[in-house]
Amino acid sequence: MSILVLEKKGLTLLEEILSYPGGKAILGCIQCGTCSGSCPTSYSMDYTPRKLIAMIRANKREEVLNSLGIWNCTSCYTCSVRCPRGIKFTDIMYILKNLAFKQNRREKRNKVAAFYRSFQQVLNRYGRVHEGEMMMRYALTTNPAKLLGFAPMGLKLLTKGRLQVLPHSIKGTGQLQELFKRAQAQ
Ligand code: SF4
Ligand code: SF4
Repeated sequence: MSILVLEKKGLTLLEEILSYPGGKAILGCIQCGTCSGSCPTSYSMDYTPRKLIAMIRANKREEVLNSLGIWNCTSCYTCSVRCPRGIKFTDIMYILKNLAFKQNRREKRNKVAAFYRSFQQVLNRYGRVHEGEMMMRYALTTNPAKLLGFAPMGLKLLTKGRLQVLPHSIKGTGQLQELFKRAQAQ
């Protein structure tokens, strides 16, 4: 499910989450931990799904939006399917990612968020992915030394014709950019 996320100034994190479709359900969370126990990536999260819900209810905006855990959610929906209270936590994760993304949180330290942003920037520019530029943007945001590490693979892909040297734009990139701009302004 895709939810349009607007940054709502002056609201606490809890009020903000409650204002989105499905958000009110977190008030019914009984902290049973089924979501965390079922989540295939909770081992890699600093705060598990159950803990994130407790933190949202405690209005811990900084800790929640700076969490690495929200970026390690793979949207597998297991937590949503298994929750005995019918809480669609996957959708809450989308809201948290969007809020964190809009506020540029921790991208230097958060590789997944940096990867998402590099992808979006290249898409915005050409209307399609150009892997070389995307990986360059990603490396420059996270660790420029990585470019050296990417070089052998890049060369191999180039020689096999699997990587384009120059990016190609789709027709009507201006219209696409306008769409992105409108979505970001909301
Ligand atoms: Fe809360 Fe549902 Fe997770 Fe249990 S499974 S902790 S009720 S969100
Ligand atoms: Fe974990 Fe995300 Fe899957 Fe829920 S949707 S179980 S939080 S990976």
